[in-house]
Amino acid sequence: MSSTERAPVLWDVDTQVDFVLPEGKLAVPGAAAAVPAMARLVDWARSNGIVHVASADDHEVTDPELSGTPDFESTYPPHCLRGTRGAQKIPETEQADPVPLGQVAYPPALVRSLVEGRREILLLKKSFDVFTNPNTEVVLELLDPTQVIVFGVATDVCDHAAIVGLLRRGRRVTFVEDASRGLERGRLRDDARDVFALQGFERHRAAHSNRLRGKARARNSMSRPAKAAAASARLQRSAFAQCE
Ligand SMILES: [Zn+2]
Repeated sequence: MSSTERAPVLWDVDTQVDFVLPEGKLAVPGAAAAVPAMARLVDWARSNGIVHVASADDHEVTDPELSGTPDFESTYPPHCLRGTRGAQKIPETEQADPVPLGQVAYPPALVRSLVEGRREILLLKKSFDVFTNPNTEVVLELLDPTQVIVFGVATDVCDHAAIVGLLRRGRRVTFVEDASRGLERGRLRDDARDVFALQGFERHRAAHSNRLRGKARARNSMSRPAKAAAASARLQRSAFAQCE
């Protein structure tokens, strides 16, 4: 991918039924209220040809992260079990035809051939950290985004791990607060201090993506990379305006 084609990437963290909906097995408080903002971001990416990377928990009952006596630090109650409704993405963030990449480490050349020209990538994982999927790093290098726009659940667990992982790999991250929710208020504050202090990290409110989406139709004559770059520039301006 040439430098002129580099574009932002939308990074959707675990917007699955078990985390987002109130009846989910590990429901994140208030997450359902963030669904309209999540939907706006996904629609915005679709309208602008921006790559939508989603992570998703893909658990089996034997996974070390699952426990009947969870500590909510390294172990959690059973959730997002493979093949169950709880593991599905909510309809508002569903991908139409993603490239699914599981825990098996594919040769980088194979990953390249799989993701080339594709707009939707699904990274399956068995731990809260998406970078435990060995293909995540390869995907990130291939996409080589100018900016990674992160949203999803939970802010203090999987979002945090994704953001730290992205920053450590030299990526610029924007975190969309209104399209995200945390598990535990106290821990969220601690983590927020941690993460928000890291260089290159910005926050902004998803409401602005709605305004951006409204203008997307005017750019139909632009090429996909040009559209994505233009959309990124506008989002960036919006992000700066909304930094707290
Ligand atoms: Zn999990």
